[in-house]
Amino acid sequence: MRYNPNPKLPVPLKSELIHLHKNKGMSGRQMADYYKVSQMQIRRWFREREIIPRSRNKAPSGRPPTGEKNWNWKGDKVSYQALHSWVRRHKGTPHECEKCGTTEPRKYEWANISGEYKRDLSDWIRVCTKCHRKMDKK
Ligand SMILES: [Zn+2]
Repeated sequence: MRYNPNPKLPVPLKSELIHLHKNKGMSGRQMADYYKVSQMQIRRWFREREIIPRSRNKAPSGRPPTGEKNWNWKGDKVSYQALHSWVRRHKGTPHECEKCGTTEPRKYEWANISGEYKRDLSDWIRVCTKCHRKMDKK
């Protein structure tokens, strides 16, 4: 049975959502990034699957992994999400858009320039979600 009427959206398993959220310590926002959906969608998935979200202010019991050795690196075939986390860890959380220069929306993401998702920090720029979406459409 499909939970989601929109076939374009991924329909993750409950166990996968729980794993990402509780074991990997991903926030709703990170999970939205991961699945390329809105945070609203993540919340909906949680609700539909009766998953109780981690409390916002409480630190996860197992801290999220830090450092490369904790990620399951497979050369350049490393998963998009792990790569994103790696970039964020090395370059920090972006606070402005390098494309349009805005500091308005307060939500920025690391975007890949080459589209090859290189494990190369110079292949990533910080952009606002609007520019990121535009880049992904290309
Ligand atoms: Zn922008």
